Amino acid sequence: MAGIEKMTAGLLDTLGVEYALYTQGSMPSHSPLTGEQIAAVRIADAADTDAALAAAGAAFRAWRDVPAPRRGELVRLFGEELRAAKDDLATLVTIEAGKIPSEGAGEVQEMIDICDFAVGLSRQLHGLTIATERPGHRMMEIWHPLGVVGVISAFNFPVAVWAWNAALALVCGNSVVWKPSEKTPLTALATQAIFERALRRFGDAPAGLSQVLIGGRETGEALVDDARVALVSATGSTRMGRAVAPRLAQRFARAILELGGNNGVIVAPSADLDLALRGVAFGAMGTAGQRCTTTRRLFVHDSIYDGFVARLKAAYASVGVGNPLESTTLVGPLIDRAAYEAMQAALPAAKAAGGVVHGGERVGDGASYYVRPALVEMPGQVGPVLEETFAPILYVMRYDDLDTAIRLHNDVAAGLSSAIFTTDLREAERFLAASDCGIANVNLGTSGAEIGGAFGGEKETGGGRESGSDAWRQYMRRATNTVNYSDALPLAQGVSFDL
Ligand code: NAD
Repeated sequence: MAGIEKMTAGLLDTLGVEYALYTQGSMPSHSPLTGEQIAAVRIADAADTDAALAAAGAAFRAWRDVPAPRRGELVRLFGEELRAAKDDLATLVTIEAGKIPSEGAGEVQEMIDICDFAVGLSRQLHGLTIATERPGHRMMEIWHPLGVVGVISAFNFPVAVWAWNAALALVCGNSVVWKPSEKTPLTALATQAIFERALRRFGDAPAGLSQVLIGGRETGEALVDDARVALVSATGSTRMGRAVAPRLAQRFARAILELGGNNGVIVAPSADLDLALRGVAFGAMGTAGQRCTTTRRLFVHDSIYDGFVARLKAAYASVGVGNPLESTTLVGPLIDRAAYEAMQAALPAAKAAGGVVHGGERVGDGASYYVRPALVEMPGQVGPVLEETFAPILYVMRYDDLDTAIRLHNDVAAGLSSAIFTTDLREAERFLAASDCGIANVNLGTSGAEIGGAFGGEKETGGGRESGSDAWRQYMRRATNTVNYSDALPLAQGVSFDL
């Protein structure tokens, strides 16, 4: 066994994943760090999917009757198991998704955080009591568990996105079936093994409460089309969402869609430029430009453009690119060759549209794809600037009037995350009022959301919200109940129907 393959096997073994699950399948799994094959996983076939959904349905019918605070206890135990497994799971995230170690650890921390949030929530799944127009009546709303929740996740947050959904879905009384990205099956198997440890400690949870189906698009489609799945939470490209949304609508299923972003930052004349530099550098180059919230467009005011962009270019030229396991670099690999090719197609297109490209070249060769992040000075918002290329390309543009900058900022199809760097209160508020994104920040970058807020975006980002705030309501169904405790039967709106 080669180095990374051996290391992966050691981690999977420690994390409790059965040997056969990652050695005896037909789907090869590669590490973007070196491109080498690290495992061979089994793809779920139609019979596996059918059995999983049948088991999930039965699990739901038992789990919905367990009191919510008791359901929270399972999620609390899962959080404990995650704390114990944090370092190993984080390293596996680095190996499988290419994140630098602190981002791998950050991803697992997000899972722990959402568990804590969900445990508290398990005692707060509250409805309202509403004033009624009829005497001797009480009207209220009650939230009930929903059913089987299908989770389809992307490669770039291979475990946290599932946890955002699963922790809430479970305390809300649902069962969960997860179709992880075909590019990151191992972290999913490891997460499932960790969850099963929590289940064993919990004791009497129904079998099939949380299951994993390994596979590609077809496996995702099977979840999308199956009437036994009440809600599908799908994270990935807008292309995927465009395929999934009408199929879910066709059968009136619920959907949470978390799709692509094309996130912009405005740097205003009054900005703290040191802060702006760090915020933009992390937002644009972090995770090798492979976050849905990655900063892809930058609008810099004319009066500070030359100095600020010169500093940014210097940061781009000096940032360490390389294998995150072997060095203290900040930019790891692209996920695969297709990602590299998409980047190499976008850069000439930007040039053809008048852009001046700095960086973007490949670092090293072989079966892994490392690139120097690219900063592209653009004469305007045209060509590839209008689309998400899932790679580290930052398009930089000048502006001289804030209203124009905000109009350009909003003038793309996606609407996920946005930010302004300014110390001018009026500018900050104008931006917050006008940004059409689900996330709008002042004096911090576009990426790195906390779990306490609702996460998601508008327009072609899909409109879904996950994680904090009141996102839990999507995993439950609402019933309006009216109780008549009088001995009369007054009809609403004064309708009379005297027999
Ligand atoms: P992708 O769309 O290629 O795949 C995402 C998931 O969808 C995978 O599990 C895949 O197997 C599945 N899938 C693809 N087509 C499907 C179909 N027709 N039916 C059912 N399932 C299908 O995305 P990716 O390359 O893994 O991830 C990168 C993309 O995800 C980027 O566009 C990024 O912005 C987006 N993303 C969004 C968020 C968010 O919260 N908004 C978070 C992470 C990633």
